[in-house]
Amino acid sequence: MTYHSGRHFLQLPGPTNTPDRVLRAMSKPTIDHRGPEFQELTWRLLEGLRRVFRTEHTVVVHPASGSGAWEAAIANTLSPGDRVLVFKQGFFADKWAEIAGRFGLDVRVHPWDMREGLAPPAVTAALEEEGDVKAVLVVHNETSTGVTTDVEAIGRAMRESGHPAMLFVDAVSSLAVTDLRHDEWGIDVTLTGSQKGLMLPPGLAMLAVSPRALEASARAELPRSYWRWDDQIAFNERGFFPYTPATNLLYGLEEALAMLEEEGLEAVFARHSLFARATRAAVEGWGLEVFATRPEESSAAATAVLVPDGHDADALRKLILDRFDMSLGTGLGAVKGRVFRIGHLGDLNALSLMGTLAGVEMGLGLAGVPHERGGVDAAMRVLTENGGAP
Ligand code: PLP
Repeated sequence: MTYHSGRHFLQLPGPTNTPDRVLRAMSKPTIDHRGPEFQELTWRLLEGLRRVFRTEHTVVVHPASGSGAWEAAIANTLSPGDRVLVFKQGFFADKWAEIAGRFGLDVRVHPWDMREGLAPPAVTAALEEEGDVKAVLVVHNETSTGVTTDVEAIGRAMRESGHPAMLFVDAVSSLAVTDLRHDEWGIDVTLTGSQKGLMLPPGLAMLAVSPRALEASARAELPRSYWRWDDQIAFNERGFFPYTPATNLLYGLEEALAMLEEEGLEAVFARHSLFARATRAAVEGWGLEVFATRPEESSAAATAVLVPDGHDADALRKLILDRFDMSLGTGLGAVKGRVFRIGHLGDLNALSLMGTLAGVEMGLGLAGVPHERGGVDAAMRVLTENGGAP
């Protein structure tokens, strides 16, 4: 393998770069997870996570990836044969639907144009058509397409329709990236993973659970053991876990939460939104197409870029990795080979973004992908428009 000097550019839409502060926090010695020091840590973490999820209610943390959180949401709240509604938002919505199917749920998958955010009328119409739906599974930011859905509007439309279905939201690539309010938006389960906006390595799944979802979990009949919220909550109240938790990742989580508080959530959202705008300006400058049709729905976490017909997005990614030591996101599912994704979430500053965009522009040239020069310039203009701040 070629030797690369300097730091690798990990510009995926997750895992994201783990800040040195978080890495250092995780390198502390592991402690007794049944001791008093750990107990205090659990309480602090749950309180901190509640602020990020914007909830006053239950938060649960499991050692797992985001897919584990999908499973925990389903297994805790539903019974065999229960009907759930999913839309063809993209690769991750499809995966969540697949898991629901494996649990023996009656999964109703409705078509959707994955280049657009899910529209509230489509949700209410599908609920009316499908009747006894127990839960609607919505991906807030479909990381595979770089399209964000207005979850607040969906929650409002569902409440106004009077349909009793619960609203489950995948916030794996939106929590701590873009505004999300679990309580205010009427979400029943919001779930996420550690490796994106929370700036940790992969390995923690976190869920905010509404009182209604908690009530549903008392009646739900799907088999579950490891994921059981009742056990988890009872232990958490005492500051512990019903199993050995991922102690060192939890140290990292505490540091990451401290960083988010220092910056302030609103500033975190503004920074992500600015970097997304600068990235879109670069894509336009190259004369290429952003996969999201509407700029206001284009994700703050990642920009999916269409490569011109006859060119392979994965060949471009490979060249950029080989020459410039930068990892970009691959096209997933239906858009494999047609898009590459530029991650701009997590611990990132304007200069890391500019390095990323310069790497893409040089890569486009070397790979012979037809494009115009000047994307990097366009991004710099956006970044400096307001004196360099969001
Ligand atoms: N949901 C979304 C929106 C994601 O982006 C991902 C992973 O990228 C997942 C779910 C699955 O998470 P994991 O790969 O951590 O299991």
